[in-house]
Amino acid sequence: MAVRLFSKLRVLPEIKAAYSSSAAAAAPAQLSDFDVQHKTPVIRKQKLIPKAQYGGRHAVTMLPGGGIGPECMGYVRDIFKYIGAPVDFEIVDIDPTVDNDDDVLYAITTIKRNGVGLKGNIETKSEAAYVTSRNVALRNELDMYAYVLNCKSFPGVETRHKDIDVVIIRQNTEGEYAMLEHESVHGVIESMKVVTASNSERVARFAFEFARKNGRKKVTTVHKANIMKLSDGLFLETSKRLAKEYPDIEHNDMIIDNCCMQLVAKPHQFDVMLMTNLYGSIVSNVVCGLLGGAGLLSGRNYGDHYAVFEPGTRNTGTAIAGKNVANPIAMINASIDMLEHLGHHFHADLLRRAVHKTINVDRIMTPDVGGTASSTDVVNAIIGNIGLNH
Ligand code: ADP
Ligand code: MG
Repeated sequence: MAVRLFSKLRVLPEIKAAYSSSAAAAAPAQLSDFDVQHKTPVIRKQKLIPKAQYGGRHAVTMLPGGGIGPECMGYVRDIFKYIGAPVDFEIVDIDPTVDNDDDVLYAITTIKRNGVGLKGNIETKSEAAYVTSRNVALRNELDMYAYVLNCKSFPGVETRHKDIDVVIIRQNTEGEYAMLEHESVHGVIESMKVVTASNSERVARFAFEFARKNGRKKVTTVHKANIMKLSDGLFLETSKRLAKEYPDIEHNDMIIDNCCMQLVAKPHQFDVMLMTNLYGSIVSNVVCGLLGGAGLLSGRNYGDHYAVFEPGTRNTGTAIAGKNVANPIAMINASIDMLEHLGHHFHADLLRRAVHKTINVDRIMTPDVGGTASSTDVVNAIIGNIGLNH
C-alpha cells in the first residue's frame, strides 16, 4: 500500500527505501534515529519525510508550551475558526517535568510531517544537567539556522521612538547556544561558543538574500570580534566576504555593546541586522522593549525544509498566565506570518488589517502596552473588525 503511494510521488530513494521496509515503517523505530540532546555542532542532515497535505488545507503543528502559550493558542484557534482559515492544527503538549525526550521527539516528527509549526515557549523544568532546553533542541534538530524578527513600530502604541523598521536576523542553531559546558578542574567551568564557517555563511547569505528580496538597503553585522577574535572573527569575515556578492546592499559592522547603545539612542540608522545566537536574543529583546514589549512582535525560525513561528521574545509569561491580561498580539502576529508562509494571503491580509485597526485605530490594548482591555477584549475586538472587513 505504502509502496504504491510512493510510486506516484517524487521522493528521495533513501526515504522510499525506509518507508518500504516494514521495520522502518513503525513510527517508534524511526524516532530512535533522533538524538535531540546531541552535542554535535554541525549542520544537521535532514532526513526528509513526505509533507502531509489534505485537499487545499494545511496541517500545522501547534506547540502551546507553558505560561500564557495555551491561552494565546486558544485565541488563534478562535480567530482561525471565525475567518475559516484553511489550517488544521495538530496540537502537541510537551510535559516540562519529565526527563525523557519522547514528547519533543514526537513534536519534531509532526513538524517534519507538516513542514510548519506554531509555538509558544516550551519550558524545561528538569534540573538534570543532561536535559537541555527543548526550544533549542527543536531548532537544532530541524536545522532552522535563521531566525527573523521584523521590528516595525505600531503607530497606536506610545513609545519613545516612532517609525522604527528594523529586521533582526539571528544565527539560530550554534554559537553561545552550543550547550557544551564542562568543569575542567574543580571550580573552573568552561562553556564553548561554537561558530562554524558553514553556518556563518548560510545565515549571512540568508540575510543578504532577505535584504535584496525585501527591498532593504543595508545589512549590519553585529559582533564582538575585537575580543572573540576567532569565533566572532569568522562570523564577521564571512559576512564581509558575502557582502561582495551583493554590491547593491550596503554592508557595515558594529560591536555588540555599541550596537545596544545605538539602538536605544538612534534606532533609525539600522535596517537589516545580522548576528550570532546570543547577541540575537539580547538585541531582539532590546528592540521589542523599544517597540512596546514582549506582547507585540512575532519571530520566524527558518531552515531549508521547515519553518516555525512564535512570539518574538520567546517569553513564557508564567506570572501573568490565566489572568486574562496577556497581550495576544504577538501570537496572533506569529499566526499571520504562518498563514503568509503557507500562501494563504487572503486570510493573512484579513487578519493583519483587523489587528492594525484594533491596535492602531481603535486602540484596544492590554495593560503591557498602555491599554486597559483584557486579552479576550482584544481578541473580540479583532474578530469584530474582521466582520467589518468583509
Ligand atoms: P522569560 O520567559 O524569559 O522568563 P517572562 O516570561 O518572565 O520571561 O517574560 C518577561 C516579561 O515579559 C514579563 O514581565 C512578562 O509578564 C512579560 N510578557 C511576556 N509575554 C507577554 C505578553 N504576551 N503580554 C504581556 N506581557 C508579556
Ligand atoms: Mg519565563
